[in-house]
Amino acid sequence: MGEIKLKPCPFCGGEAFIHEICEDFLDVGWKMRGFAGSCKKCHATTEYNQDRNIAIRAWNKRAGEDGVEE
Ligand SMILES: [Zn+2]
Repeated sequence: MGEIKLKPCPFCGGEAFIHEICEDFLDVGWKMRGFAGSCKKCHATTEYNQDRNIAIRAWNKRAGEDGVEE
């Protein structure tokens, strides 16, 4: 199963990546592990989700995709 491609940032056109919250962050107040789509340039970020694919879809949706992409 291939990874879903992240669309470019809807705000600045920058390259997007999936930011992963790991245990290191739990010390500073995060309650759970999770993933979020994030922009390398302007640091726009989606909400964190425990499912990586959902985080990717949330980012792509924000990037202007209406309708479901499977
Ligand atoms: Zn951006």
